[in-house]
Formats: sequence, structure tokens, C-alpha cells
Amino acid sequence: MSAETGVRKGIKITADEAASLDPQQIAVLLPDASPQTEVEGQTFCTSIQCPYCGKSGRCNTDPMPGKYYRCINCGALFRS
Ligand SMILES: [Zn+2]
Repeated sequence: MSAETGVRKGIKITADEAASLDPQQIAVLLPDASPQTEVEGQTFCTSIQCPYCGKSGRCNTDPMPGKYYRCINCGALFRS
């Protein structure tokens, strides 16, 4: 087994929940193939997969429960 980071699957949220979100609560995912993943001193979390389109992206914060993300591919909102 390698220590490679896995892909975490996002959870769909309702339209009502999405509409009530503060934009500051929403983190935008970075492209999974980002060339900056090896920046020294910076920790990237595991990839999160969009529950709508299946595209995964990286975030630069820990995927805490209740944290919201915007898909880089389809723009849908979901949470970790
Ligand atoms: Zn998506």
C-alpha cells in the first residue's frame, strides 16, 4: 500500500442549503493536475470528487466536515 492521497467523495447539498450559504464559506477547488502541488511548506489535502460530474479537484485546506466547495468543472456546490 502506498501513502498516496485518496480521493474523497463530496456530498450533494440541497438547493435551499446552497442558496443560504455565505460565499466566504465556499472554497474553490484547484485543478487536480495543478503543477504547484509540490510547493514546499504548503500542504494540500486529498482530492475531493464532485458528486455531480465526478471530476475531482484539490483544496489547500483540510476537508473538514461541513466545509463547502465549488466544483471547478461544473460549478456545482457540495460539501466534504
Ligand atoms: Zn462538478
